[in-house]
Amino acid sequence: MNRVRCLVLNAALGPLDYRVPDGMDIGPGSVVECPLGPRTVIGIVWEAERLPGTDVPVEKLRNLRGVLPVPPLSAPLRRLIEWAADYYVASLASVARMALSSGGALKGPATMTEYRLTGGLPERMTPQRHAAIEALEGEQANIRELSGIAGVSEGVLRGLVNQGVLEPVEVDCDRPYDAARPDFAEIALNAEQREASDIFAAAVRKAEFAPFLLDGVTGSGKTETYFEPIAEALRMGWQVLVLLPEIALTENFLHRFEERFGAAPVLWHSSLKSTERRRAYRAVSEGTGQVVVGARSALFLPFAKLGLIVVDEAHETSFKQEDGVRYNARDVAVMRGHFEKVPVVLASATPALESLQMAESGIYRKIDLPSRFGGAELPAIDTIDLTQEKPPHGMWLAQRLVDGIEDRLERGEQSLLFLNRRGYAPLTLCRNCGFRYQCPNCSAWLVEHRFTRRLACHHCGHEAPAPQACTECGEPDCLVACGPGVERIADEVAERLPQARVFVATSDTLNSPGRAAEFIAAVEACEVDVIVGTQLVTKGFHFPDLTLVGVVDADLGLEGGDLRAGERTYQQVAQVAGRAGRGSKPGEVLIQTRHPEAPVIAALAAGDRDAFYSAETEMRREAGAPPFGRWAAITVSSEDDAEAREAANRLGAFRPQVEDCLILGPAPAPMALLRGRYRYRFLINARRSVQLQDEIRRWLAQVDHPPGVRVAVDIDPYSFV
Ligand code: ADP
Ligand code: ZN
Repeated sequence: MNRVRCLVLNAALGPLDYRVPDGMDIGPGSVVECPLGPRTVIGIVWEAERLPGTDVPVEKLRNLRGVLPVPPLSAPLRRLIEWAADYYVASLASVARMALSSGGALKGPATMTEYRLTGGLPERMTPQRHAAIEALEGEQANIRELSGIAGVSEGVLRGLVNQGVLEPVEVDCDRPYDAARPDFAEIALNAEQREASDIFAAAVRKAEFAPFLLDGVTGSGKTETYFEPIAEALRMGWQVLVLLPEIALTENFLHRFEERFGAAPVLWHSSLKSTERRRAYRAVSEGTGQVVVGARSALFLPFAKLGLIVVDEAHETSFKQEDGVRYNARDVAVMRGHFEKVPVVLASATPALESLQMAESGIYRKIDLPSRFGGAELPAIDTIDLTQEKPPHGMWLAQRLVDGIEDRLERGEQSLLFLNRRGYAPLTLCRNCGFRYQCPNCSAWLVEHRFTRRLACHHCGHEAPAPQACTECGEPDCLVACGPGVERIADEVAERLPQARVFVATSDTLNSPGRAAEFIAAVEACEVDVIVGTQLVTKGFHFPDLTLVGVVDADLGLEGGDLRAGERTYQQVAQVAGRAGRGSKPGEVLIQTRHPEAPVIAALAAGDRDAFYSAETEMRREAGAPPFGRWAAITVSSEDDAEAREAANRLGAFRPQVEDCLILGPAPAPMALLRGRYRYRFLINARRSVQLQDEIRRWLAQVDHPPGVRVAVDIDPYSFV
């Protein structure tokens, strides 16, 4: 056949047909260059019968321009793209784009120039040149990287190139990764771990879809347990995908992985340099990249032969993508496993209610690790009722918690204070005129950051220097910080326990794998006594000398009351509690709260997970909330308030009348202004029997909007702002 149908990477266009020139070798999944008017767009050859289009007569078809030098997207990946577009009410093109996520890799093999020392000396030696030559011994990299290594300017290095001290070397951009060795350093598992890992390894060998929920308490060794099925996949010559929720966690993982497998895995996340991206992408597509550790976007990589998927900390809400195609990586991972016919392991100490329900109904197989590795005990948990044990005026920590930290200081142990608020104070106001500092682009207060002396919006990134005088009334030195953020808690610790060495751990301070590694090293070397951190420090870290965890404000997550507030609070507090007493010394957790009687807090204090989950399950069942019913959110936005409101109202007039499906709105979204856009929202609650996505698609297709209006669909939303 000399014609093909293509999915072109342009969301506004439907599928297009092209003629295949003689001698061009393509099939379904081939990535091709399609002429479109005067331009060329990238397309993917698709099965015509799966992609209805208009049958243009063959004489009118234009020739494909070329085939890109990458392996065709496999059938399982094409099915995943179709599924995700259908389920999340997104265009095929926008999902397919996620599978072609390295522009460089699509261009085929390439080389780049690196430099190394020749052994020669410059005609004139300067101190800088001398330092550079010393520092670059044994190094080879591009000029920018070498300048970083040597701590001298790029100009100095160029001078050395001209003098023949450094020589250029052409290297393959995509040199292969070191091979991970399945039998490099096997770990002796305990009986529980062995039983679980044998089940996973057997599932890998069977090469069938099999979803597992690995439900193991914090410190039970979930990582060690899923390393064995990874080894099994490697023995079979297959690839593995491990999803982690946070780049800050990869450092610890990489270290353990290297010790076990003798080589680093392939990394995939949004802050990779484009050269690293192309190298990873090509290795994955050719099958030489064996184990990929990545953020959610790794789910759409074109694996050549996938054998296993692991989602670690599977309950994490950061697996939910909140812009573009709004997907949940945990759920997409399971679907990828389904299409690839491989096992999927969802690992967590605090599984999402949805996952537990899937296990309950027999769809996922649940494997338990009920005890900590090496006989470590789970920590003792107690609450501090802040209405009874009031912190001193203007402070946030009850005396009992401070005493606990002081005990640890005396014993040379460490403490962790958890507060999920970056910055110094969440609200700043003027004592003189009452003015509150608000973001110009969002319905949100500006957060004071004392380290950087700025006021920042945590939603859009807007920043301004903290003013000396009130910008409204002009009164100098009259700004008051309201409420605590982690920086303020760190100040309080420093004031009340001046001998303590305090580290603030947030996405501001641990914003790269390198800085995360420094943090871990400092804590492990006991150079830190008190860590004050956000949700970033609640999971993954293993610090044997950390014996006290203080939750500064357990009520914080319960405010605002979205659907998952209780569950999220439970998970966060249980996870952060899980950081205490992981070594040989017992751990203690103190939870500060104004509502010790609230069901979540009571369940945490009693260590009664089952009680919490069953109460929460009943509540969801009654409310028709997931997993029993379904939610969807549709947000209509524009930079112009009236335009957004009108568009939302117009859409509202076409709302479908469907049984068992309640459509609320349009109403201003809780964040009525976000990143400069005014937002109106519909919330949909439906029974599972309703074909929700079909209804939404039909509904949205009936109304056209002006170009400035955006309509975003969020199926199974996590964020209700
Ligand atoms: P989890 O992810 O379940 O909280 P980890 O996988 O971080 O637990 O394991 C907790 C600690 O116990 C880690 O330091 C890990 O290296 C150690 N550990 C777990 N299982 C083993 C084992 N079989 N042999 C040696 N160390 C283990
Ligand atoms: Zn903002």
